[in-house]
Amino acid sequence: MSVLLLFLDGVGLGDDDPSVNPLARAEMPVLSSLLDGKRLLRTTGPMVTERAGFIPTGATLGVPGRPQSATGQTTILTGINAAQIIGEHWGPKPDARLRRLLEGDTLFRRVVTAGRRAALLNAYPSGYFASIERGHRLLSAVPLAATAAGLPLFTADDLYAGRALAADFTGDGWRSRLGYTDVPVLTLRQAGSSLAELARQYEFSFFEYWPTDVLGHRASLEEAVIALEQLDAVLGGLLDAWDDTRDLLVVTSDHGNLEDLSHRHHTLNPVPTILVGKRSMANAVRPTGFELMGIAPLILAALDLERIRL
Ligand SMILES: [Zn+2]
Repeated sequence: MSVLLLFLDGVGLGDDDPSVNPLARAEMPVLSSLLDGKRLLRTTGPMVTERAGFIPTGATLGVPGRPQSATGQTTILTGINAAQIIGEHWGPKPDARLRRLLEGDTLFRRVVTAGRRAALLNAYPSGYFASIERGHRLLSAVPLAATAAGLPLFTADDLYAGRALAADFTGDGWRSRLGYTDVPVLTLRQAGSSLAELARQYEFSFFEYWPTDVLGHRASLEEAVIALEQLDAVLGGLLDAWDDTRDLLVVTSDHGNLEDLSHRHHTLNPVPTILVGKRSMANAVRPTGFELMGIAPLILAALDLERIRL
C-alpha cells in the first residue's frame, strides 16, 4: 500500500465568517463532498463519511504562544511533541534543537530503515540549492528530515521528467517567476492525478504545499479564495486517481493562519486532518483530544511499522 501525506502549511479551522475566512467563502466542491457537504470550519466536528475521516487536530501542543512551522512540522514528522520538548513554538526554520529531532527518527527514516520506498515529491529549483550551499538559506523541517534519512531532494530535472511536482502543483510559477520558460505546465486536475501516480511508486510520500501559509501572511481575501478553489481542483484530480481500496491519503497542516485574514499572524485554531482510503481508520476519528502528535503513529500503523519512541 501507499500513504501520501499532503501537507498544507498554515491552514486552520476558523469561524464561519466569509468576511475574514476564505474557507467560509471559497467554492470547494471536492473537499465538501468528502465532508458530507460541510466546509473546513471550527464548527465541523469529527466525522466519518462514505469516503473520508475528518479529525480536528490540536496544534497548540500545550505550549503558550502562537504555533510555528518548525515545531509543528517536526511534531508531525516524529509524533513527538517538539514544542513541549524545546519549551516554545519555533519557526519558520528549525534550529539546532529541532535539527536533532529531525535528524533522528522521523517518518522518512522509519520507512527507509524498514527497507521501503519513501520520497519528498516536491521539486526544488537550482536557485534553492545554490542559496542553501552559500549558507543564505536554511533547510526547512520537511526537506531536512528527508535528506537526513538519505533521500534526495528532487531537482528541476526531476520536474521536467515528471518524477516530482512544483510547489504550486502546476509548474506555472517556475515558468513565470523562476525563468524555466520551457518547463511542462500541468492543469490543476493533471497535477492532482500526477500526484496520485507519483505517490503509488512509494510506500510513503510527502508533498509540501507551503503557499497557503504565505497567503495567510500576505494575501487579500480574494487571492486566498482563488488559491483555495485551485487547491480543490487539484484535490479533484488526486481523488479521481486515488485507489481507496489500497492506499491512504492524509491531508493535514501544522498551524492555523489562512483561515483568519483579519490579521497576519498564525492562529491558535485546530487544523484539519482528513483521511481518505481503505485504511481511513474510522477508529482514529476521536471526538476530542487529537493533536499533531497523533499523525505519525497513524501513518506508521497504516504501514504496519512500529511507533517512534523518544
Ligand atoms: Zn507562517
